[in-house]
Amino acid sequence: MLPAFLAQGIARFRTPDYLCVNSAVEMRLTPAILLVTLTLIFASQIVYAQHYSLLIKGGRVVDPKDNIDTEMDVAIDKGRISAIAHDINPINADKVVDARGLYVVPGMIDIHTHVFHGIKNGDNLCNGSASAIADSFSFRSGVTTIVDAGSSGWRNFPIFKRNVIDKSKTRIYAFLNIEGFGMRGEPFEQDTTDMDPEMAASIAKKYRQDIVGIKIAHFEESEWLALDSAEKAGRLASLPVMVDFGSSSRPLSLKTLCTRHLRPGDIFTHCFAEVRGRESIVDTATKKIAPYLQLARKKGIDFDVGYGKISFDFSQALPAVHTGFYPSSISTDMQSPERGDTVKNLLNIMSRFLAMGMPLREIIASCTMNPAREIRHEELGGIAPGTVADLAILELEKGKFSFFDRRRQMVQGDERFRCRMTIRQGEIVYRERRSD
Ligand SMILES: [Zn+2]
Repeated sequence: MLPAFLAQGIARFRTPDYLCVNSAVEMRLTPAILLVTLTLIFASQIVYAQHYSLLIKGGRVVDPKDNIDTEMDVAIDKGRISAIAHDINPINADKVVDARGLYVVPGMIDIHTHVFHGIKNGDNLCNGSASAIADSFSFRSGVTTIVDAGSSGWRNFPIFKRNVIDKSKTRIYAFLNIEGFGMRGEPFEQDTTDMDPEMAASIAKKYRQDIVGIKIAHFEESEWLALDSAEKAGRLASLPVMVDFGSSSRPLSLKTLCTRHLRPGDIFTHCFAEVRGRESIVDTATKKIAPYLQLARKKGIDFDVGYGKISFDFSQALPAVHTGFYPSSISTDMQSPERGDTVKNLLNIMSRFLAMGMPLREIIASCTMNPAREIRHEELGGIAPGTVADLAILELEKGKFSFFDRRRQMVQGDERFRCRMTIRQGEIVYRERRSD
C-alpha cells in the first residue's frame, strides 16, 4: 500500500502534451526516457509543486521591452507569464510547445485598423461592411491587441463597444473620431459642425477603459479647424491624437503641423504615404527627411505606418529606412478584404521592412513595446513574469520573396515572417496548419 501523499502524486501525474509547432523537430518519449521522466516526476511531486498550464521550450525570445534576445523557455499559468529561464523543467506543465528554431515574441499590437463592422451604414467603416471583423485576421497574424483608428465617433461609440469590442476575443481599443459619427463616408466626414471637442472628450473619459486617443482623418479643407478640434479634445481628455493628414487642393504645411500643432505623444499615421494634396515626410526631389521631422521625433511625436490601400509607398519608406528613420509603429490600416486591393496582414508589412533593411529587433519593437507606449498601455508589449500571457510564435521563412507597393515598385527579400502559433491570455487561439 502506497502512502497517501505518493498515491496522490501518482494520480496528479500525467505526461505533458507536446505541441510541435516545428514538425521537423518532433519530440518522442521512448521507454528509457519515460523511465527517467517518471523518476524525476516522483521526485518533483514530493519536493516541488510549481504548475504550468503551458510551457514554450527552446524558442528565441525577442522582447525589446525587457531587453531579451536569446533562447529561453517561457512558462505560463493562469493566463500570465510565470517564468522565463534558460531551461524550465517540463514535468509540471500540462502542455509543452516545442519552439526550437522559431521566434517567441510578445503578442503583437496593430495600432491602426478598422473593425467597426456592421450592417447599418452600407459600405462604410462605421457600423458598415467596409470594416473588417477583428477576430478573423488578428490571431492568425500573431496579433492579440488591435486599435480601431477612428471608425466610430462620439455619437456612435457605445454601439461599437456593445456590438464589437465587448464581443471580440481580440483585445480592442479605440481612437475616437472627432467627427460625431466617425467614418460615415462623405460628405459627413467634412462636417465641421459635428466636430465637438467637449462631447468627444466627455465620451473618451466615460469609456476610459476602451478609448486610448482621438482621431482626425480624411479632412479635405485647407484649414486647421478640424485638427484643432481634435487637439482640443485630446487636451480635455488627456489623450494623444492620431493624425491622418488628409488632402486638399492647397496642402497644409507638414512643418507647421509638427512644430505648432502636434504635442509629444501625438501620432502621425500614414507616415510613408506619397499622395496628392498632402506633403510627405521624404522630400520627393531630394529624397531627404527635413531636420524638423527629426526634431519632432525627439520631441516625442510618433510616426505610424497605417499601410492601407493608398498610404504606403516604397519611394517614401526606402529613403527613410536607409537613413535610420524607422516607424515608431508598424500597422495595417486593415479594412474588409471585400474592399479589394488592401493589405494582406501585419506579417506581410513586417516582412517588407525586413527586406528594406530594418533590423529584426526594431521591427518587433514597432509591433509590441512601441505601440503599447503610444496607446499608454505599457502593461502590454512585453513578456516579463507577471504580465498577461499574450504571445506570438513566428517563423522566419527563407526563400526569394518580392514585395510590391500600389505603384508596382518592388523590393526583394530572402526572408518573411509566418505565424506558427498565437497565445492570448495563456490560451492557444491560433495554431498554423500546414494547409494554411
Ligand atoms: Zn485608417
